[in-house]
Amino acid sequence: MSRMENEQRERVLSPSHPRWQEFIEKLGRFGSETGCDGHLGPKRYRNAIRAMAEMGGDFDIEETFKFFEDHGGYCDCEIVLNVDGW
Ligand SMILES: [Zn+2]
Repeated sequence: MSRMENEQRERVLSPSHPRWQEFIEKLGRFGSETGCDGHLGPKRYRNAIRAMAEMGGDFDIEETFKFFEDHGGYCDCEIVLNVDGW
């Protein structure tokens, strides 16, 4: 794998990302605190955006959400239910 591909991979949060567990823990905590916006429509990732901001990584938000959608994660709780463990 080239250096560039590797760097691109590090920017997309997926279950193979080294910080995935940290992300899922935050997502679970925010979800229990403030709930999920999924009832407002698809692609509501308020808690995921907050988790990524807190983690402070240089994440590619657009590519990460595309990955979530491709794996059944259309809102914060679906990321935990469907994408985690994929
Ligand atoms: Zn939801």
